[in-house]
Amino acid sequence: MTRHSGMQQGSKSGSLLSHFCNTLDCGNIPDMKKRLLGLTIVVLALPLALASAPKPLSVYFIDVEGGQSTLFVSPSGESMLVDTGWPDHNGRDAQRILAAARDAGIHQIDYLVITHYHEDHVGGVPQLATLIPIRNFIDHGQPVETYPRAEALYQAYLRVRGKGNHILAKPGMQIPVRGLDVTVLTAAGDTIGPSAPGGGEPNPYCPKDVQPATDHSENAQSVGVLVSYGKFRMTDLGDLPSWPGEYNLVCPTNRVGHVEVYLTDQHAYAESGAFFLVDALHPIVAVADNGAHKGGAPEAFMAVRMSPGLEGFWDLHYSYSADKKLNAQAPFIANLTDNSDHAYWIKLTAFPNGAFTVTNQRNGESKTYQPRR
Ligand SMILES: [Zn+2]
Repeated sequence: MTRHSGMQQGSKSGSLLSHFCNTLDCGNIPDMKKRLLGLTIVVLALPLALASAPKPLSVYFIDVEGGQSTLFVSPSGESMLVDTGWPDHNGRDAQRILAAARDAGIHQIDYLVITHYHEDHVGGVPQLATLIPIRNFIDHGQPVETYPRAEALYQAYLRVRGKGNHILAKPGMQIPVRGLDVTVLTAAGDTIGPSAPGGGEPNPYCPKDVQPATDHSENAQSVGVLVSYGKFRMTDLGDLPSWPGEYNLVCPTNRVGHVEVYLTDQHAYAESGAFFLVDALHPIVAVADNGAHKGGAPEAFMAVRMSPGLEGFWDLHYSYSADKKLNAQAPFIANLTDNSDHAYWIKLTAFPNGAFTVTNQRNGESKTYQPRR
């Protein structure tokens, strides 16, 4: 590597020098001086090259003990948080989100997407709002579950939402995070009509037998998004169930296309993450957001592990529901036991050419994946 890159460096130095000499007259400069001049040009040009390198998109998969909270920080500095984890626990999940926000150097949440009104997603909103300003609230509209606990959660959310700007999610619309393309794929049981850019091909993995598709829970209302930064694409579909949600999204036409990263739907419960979705998305990496004893089902892990082209499987928690062989390998699991004290996150940085790096905060394990497209 050193020899090869040295040759590259030399040729780069030569081409810069020849460019310089084309502009000025180098004919009277002795060879040694020419070489020194070339080196000087490279050294001077280096900060310029670094300054023009694209900044990465940062994504934090925050451990909220089997709920969801995923923080996207755009190269522009704007941020989008998808869900806020659980309520109570003395603000545990809100504090964990704040820690990720601080690590990213942001001081407000520009867009908060609430996928649906279950307590492991919307529950943390009131506590989070006491720690960091939230500008825009995006949700699917009226809840479909109205039992007392569900109503209390929704009302608590509304009280916070009332202090900011509300955006009703509709499939096909863009969430205007500066520097990113964020497309709403699903919301309130509806699915994007025309395919998202990059989608539109027939899905060969669709099952022949279609299950009667009924789901009256909040899960089926999930706001699902496709986040794109150049060639890098990633889905976050909340707790969308396989029937009818995932099926409608990718069958018979795959309206999403391929992605670099698939965040497991519904914490890798068996009711989500069907093989016809995961295979169609064809991810390079899957990240699971199960808890130690919540989600992480063998069926969903199996769908991920058998996905064609998968190069990496990372997980916020070891799942006691699945066999050790189905779990991610230990270095790629952020939290290995059900002791929740540490709450390590998984962090991803992505570049517009589609390359991305995943890092486990627990052990510093880090892997870079090259663009496929
Ligand atoms: Zn959930």
